[in-house]
Amino acid sequence: MKICYIVAMRAEAQPFIEHYGVKLLEGFFAPLPCLCYHASIQGSDLYIVLNGEQHGSDLIGCEAASVAALSAIQKIQPDLVVNSGTCGAFLSNGANIGDVYLGSGVMFHDRRVAGDDEWGTQALGNYPVWEGTADLAQRLGFKVGKVTTGSSLDMQPCDEEIIRQNHGELKDMEAAAIAFVCSLFKLPILLVKSVTDLCDSGASTYEEFSKNLALASERLREANVRIIDALV
Ligand code: SAH
Repeated sequence: MKICYIVAMRAEAQPFIEHYGVKLLEGFFAPLPCLCYHASIQGSDLYIVLNGEQHGSDLIGCEAASVAALSAIQKIQPDLVVNSGTCGAFLSNGANIGDVYLGSGVMFHDRRVAGDDEWGTQALGNYPVWEGTADLAQRLGFKVGKVTTGSSLDMQPCDEEIIRQNHGELKDMEAAAIAFVCSLFKLPILLVKSVTDLCDSGASTYEEFSKNLALASERLREANVRIIDALV
């Protein structure tokens, strides 16, 4: 089995990279900035793909995530894609900093194209997630929630309206872009998200994010090790 993780920020992946002692495959995606790490685990292949950097910072957001996902899928031909990363969540849904969720669904919250027709449907996305998600969450004791993706870290009222209308629980900047690429290849995607900030806490999202990034990334490592143990 080939499992391909796609992770936006190095900080989110580093504990996990160190845990498995994965090796960097030099030049794997050249000339793209994406990086590919690999390890063999009990006869399965674990790939960890990072979006890479531009202008001295990790590439976050939908464009970089789509490029990494497309290239990784074409080169690696994985059986399962996993997007592991941090997210915002909501106090009103009982979320806590550091909680790990598996995504029960995924859509965009900032693509406002009017109409209930096929264009409106395309804008929202609502891509399938791996059908084993709910069972895995139950077996391993993770929460589940719908992930919504947008291109900004802050949440504007128009974003919040779409999130609330669609019962979004986890807010990030990559999941729907990766799920979109997976949908084109009919590949299953598992979303593993750890909460760095609470969008309805009244605190500054950037400050909460920065303060909790290390904790949430460590929680991602713990969760991913248990997930991989369950899958291989
Ligand atoms: N300026 C930050 C950049 C991180 S942006 C820094 O200094 O490190 C946030 C990243 O974490 C994105 O990759 C996104 O997927 C995720 N994320 C965490 N909380 C989020 C939130 N509330 N809204 C959107 N994305 C969030």
